[in-house]
Amino acid sequence: MNLARFPRIRLGHLPTPLEPMENLSKHLGGPRLWIKRDDATGLSTGGNKTRKLEYLMADALAQHDGAGADTVITQGATQSNHARQTAAAAAKLGLACHILLEDRTGYEDAAYARSGNVLLDLLHGATISRFPGGTDMAAAMEARAAELRAEGHRPYVIPGGGSNPVGALGYVNAALELVNQAAEMGLRIDHLVHATGSSGTQAGLVAGLVALNAGIPVLGIGVRAPRPQQEANVLSLAQRTAAHLGLPEGTVRAEHVVANCDYVGQGYGIPTEGMVDAIRLLAEKEGILLDPVYSGKGMAGLIDLVRQGRFGKDENVVFLHTGGAVGLFAYPDAFGVG
Ligand SMILES: *Cc1c(COP(=O)(O)O)cnc(C)c1O
Repeated sequence: MNLARFPRIRLGHLPTPLEPMENLSKHLGGPRLWIKRDDATGLSTGGNKTRKLEYLMADALAQHDGAGADTVITQGATQSNHARQTAAAAAKLGLACHILLEDRTGYEDAAYARSGNVLLDLLHGATISRFPGGTDMAAAMEARAAELRAEGHRPYVIPGGGSNPVGALGYVNAALELVNQAAEMGLRIDHLVHATGSSGTQAGLVAGLVALNAGIPVLGIGVRAPRPQQEANVLSLAQRTAAHLGLPEGTVRAEHVVANCDYVGQGYGIPTEGMVDAIRLLAEKEGILLDPVYSGKGMAGLIDLVRQGRFGKDENVVFLHTGGAVGLFAYPDAFGVG
């Protein structure tokens, strides 16, 4: 695996810290819980999309026979962290940014529709357009790209969540970073747990860790799709990412991909009691802010699995904090302060 042959633009503050969560570990009575701070990547308050955008934006600037894209188009839910970080990356690189937002939750209050990530999208100068839930967003992006091309622009379409084999390279890089960091610290990582949505994070981690023969199992906590669909999505993208990396076919197999989708609740972006409790607990015990859509549900899953005794007391479990705390400002009602 030779990651350096893929073009990359530095956008993040890397490596991100890997820190113990001593108070939470004590509170839960073990295992040894650690946190990998990908919420601290820097770009527009940070988050996991920064790593993907390092490769996606480099690819955008290599398109159109080397002239480079002049506009990026992407899509997400109203409170998309991916949209916000894409808008910031485009601003930094001097590209126009069109963000297509899908109303997946049906929330209409001002905080949800205009605060949090939406406020930051606008501050970064992105053009926002809104679509009803259930819209074919990939088709909507292609239609926008066609319009822009007809006007003489050079658009580059980034899929939702930045999840394709180019974006997933960011998490192959994160796998390398984590394994090196653990080696320097003398830390044996027994499990890596994180929130999984559009699949690029888990797919990149799995492809990278398997390629490194790291022996670190990854558990994705789902936030949207049921388990069979989530695992199929991750496996497909992990295998396509491995192929993009030039790894032999059969390197990534179904047994490497595990998702637990028991903590979604009523649906994507809809608060659960476990999410609220997990966010309060991390805020009070560790001074760490999680987010209501992804890392809060991911941590709710991890805490529940710890309480079920699924991890050995002496095991080291790393939670990958994927960011998104800006989304807290869109959900004041969930925390009783609306
Ligand atoms: C996008 C996102 C995720 C999920 O990552 P995927 O690569 O889409 O699976 C997790 N946490 C946060 C905060 C995110 O914004």
